[in-house]
Amino acid sequence: MSQNVILVTGGTGLVGKGVEWVIANEANKPGNEKWIFVGSKDADLTDYESTKAMFERVKPTHVLHLAAFVGGLFANMKLKVDFWRLNVLMQDNIFQACQAYGVTKLVSCLSTCVFPDKTSYPIDETMVHNGPPHFSNEGYAYAKRMVDVQNRLYKDQYGCNFTSVIPTNIFGPHDNFDLEDSHVIPGLIHKCYLAQKNGTPFTIMGSGTPLRQFIYSRDLAALMVWVMREYKEVDPIILSVDEADEVTIKDVAMSIVKAMKFQGEVQFDTTKADGQYKKTASNAKLRKYLPDFNFTPFHQAMDESVTWFLENAEKGTARGLFN
Ligand code: NAP
Ligand code: GDP
Repeated sequence: MSQNVILVTGGTGLVGKGVEWVIANEANKPGNEKWIFVGSKDADLTDYESTKAMFERVKPTHVLHLAAFVGGLFANMKLKVDFWRLNVLMQDNIFQACQAYGVTKLVSCLSTCVFPDKTSYPIDETMVHNGPPHFSNEGYAYAKRMVDVQNRLYKDQYGCNFTSVIPTNIFGPHDNFDLEDSHVIPGLIHKCYLAQKNGTPFTIMGSGTPLRQFIYSRDLAALMVWVMREYKEVDPIILSVDEADEVTIKDVAMSIVKAMKFQGEVQFDTTKADGQYKKTASNAKLRKYLPDFNFTPFHQAMDESVTWFLENAEKGTARGLFN
């Protein structure tokens, strides 16, 4: 049996570490797979020469492209050009290198914030290009939409087997816990920790009413490994919990309060942006392929993430602690 060398870009990030965990804990690993996890120290993917040098070193047969310039609502609102440019550069270099080095399968990552702001619900995979995304993250959203376009162009011109997944909001161990630029869950875990430590109120940005579907990074990672091994379509697939598992930002804050046993005051800063009200996504396509996939219950995933953060905050090894 020939060996599959699976290169995971973004291997040092939230999702990359999830994939590493899934592969390390898998009971029946296929004998012909070698997984290689890389971060920005191994190659600057915004630079084609650096990208090419890594492909020459690793000689991947498969690529899971997770590297990206990623951030929460407030980072997206202030750095629209960076979100557009860095992501377009990285994905363009990855596509070019995968084609040039004969990679047999490339899986890239979109996000549910690529979908149109004005839409019907639930959103499904056919709606990616149906209208403008929410203004707050248009740099990131348009860059990521191009991944879906590139998959089809590379199929048509070169016959490449390239595809993409569309995860909803993600959280888990190894997240970025930056107070300003992170996503809501890691940002609020860090804020609740500081409020506990300093005896100050725990402040949530915005009204707390927006709705989101959150997926635990280790569940998402298991699904991505399945996509890499089994999914054959060029068209994207949404990787999401069920619609019934959508929660409000206030629910999220209260789950963090519970996991942290926080007893102080909780307040909402309604002068801050709410962003998109909801982006409810359908996982019907995923359920058609994997009807029995069990997602980790939200509160359990939250407990595990908070426990990971507390351990790593004490050791100084959680990302985003000091900026
Ligand atoms: P993350 O934790 O911020 O990690 C980003 C990764 O990209 C890191 O491994 C980083 O490497 C790497 N990277 C950044 N710039 C790079 C460069 N110039 N060259 C090479 N590598 C570079 O991101 P994540 O949350 O795991 O996101 C993974 C994927 O999921 C992304 O495509 C993202 O768009 C998508 N996604 C994320 C969410 C979410 O809620 N987090 C939701 C939907 C979709 P170093 O750490 O070594 O610098
Ligand atoms: P989005 O799903 O792409 O909008 O990304 P986020 O993970 O940044 O979630 C944004 C939602 O969480 C908005 O409704 C924000 O108002 C709310 N939110 C509340 N507190 C925070 C926080 O500390 N950081 C972030 N990023 N969002 C927060």
